Amino acid sequence: MAASSSTVAPGALPRITILATGGTIAGKANANSAVGYTAGQATAQDLIDAVPGLDKIATLQAVQISNIGSQDMNDQVWLDLAHKIDEIFAGDQADGVVVTHGTDTIEETAFFLDHVVASDKPVVLVGSMRPSTALSADGPANLRSAVQVAADSQARGRGTMVVLNDTIHGAKDVTKSNTTSVQTFTSPNSGPIGHVDAAAVQFAGPATTQPRLTFPVPGKAPLPHVDIVYSHAGMDATQVDDALGHGALGIVLAGVGDGNTAKPVVDALSAAAKRGVLVVRSSRVGSGSVVRNAELNDDELGTVSALGLNPAKSRILLQLLLSDGITDVAKVQQAFGDS
Ligand code: ASP
Repeated sequence: MAASSSTVAPGALPRITILATGGTIAGKANANSAVGYTAGQATAQDLIDAVPGLDKIATLQAVQISNIGSQDMNDQVWLDLAHKIDEIFAGDQADGVVVTHGTDTIEETAFFLDHVVASDKPVVLVGSMRPSTALSADGPANLRSAVQVAADSQARGRGTMVVLNDTIHGAKDVTKSNTTSVQTFTSPNSGPIGHVDAAAVQFAGPATTQPRLTFPVPGKAPLPHVDIVYSHAGMDATQVDDALGHGALGIVLAGVGDGNTAKPVVDALSAAAKRGVLVVRSSRVGSGSVVRNAELNDDELGTVSALGLNPAKSRILLQLLLSDGITDVAKVQQAFGDS
């Protein structure tokens, strides 16, 4: 983890750059529907203008990176974000970065950035569950909270965070848990890392002194091809065959229970692993850790256990490892342990 040398000058406001990518936080009511809305309509400046007093918390700059619903988030936007954040921190242009983002894949972008941004300055992702034109839109309050967190000196050294509904989550554990509720984000294995209200930012504990596992920003999109295979009752190996047929270099199993799956799928995954495809066993359960060599024998199968990483984040870690040329199964397992 690279230490950053600048500190906020006494009496000066922290400098925060807002990178806008779209999502419901930038959504506007759809004129053709009583309930619908279109994500990614308002600009970064519109979002700032909707929060009275934001300029009293920090000196703000806004950059529009994209304006898409996060269901369409993609490798190119991830690389654009990573390069922009590197440029901002390397040039000491800001003390923290806030990324506005749709909530559907915010946990994936947070996890990606957590593993490619080496600076100890904070990156805070924020979204909203209601569009900007809704009654009780939650975007403005969430954006204010995110800027407060990014501007707080205690936020340094905590990597990338996600802030919604007064709650601060770490990138590794945060996940969306409800389709529509404003209290949708949880960190099932560790709990939130802090809370924020209009008066204060409160972290539950000190920042870790352990170095974060980071990778070089991948050279180009798309990232290496890794597929997720979703396990269910009555399953055969069709999804595995399909992934391999489309050139997957890695497969993540969203397994049942402790990362298990049907016998034909286990056989197909093990055969793939023995041919050099990286196979990671995660779980569709949503909390807990997939235990290595418990229900399935990873040593014999040639597979890796995702431990506490969910399938979507396991996929990203595998992509970063592959893009960094790390394909040795023991080293991949170690990375999952360190993630
Ligand atoms: N579909 C939207 C998105 O992820 C949902 C949201 O932002 O809450 O962009």
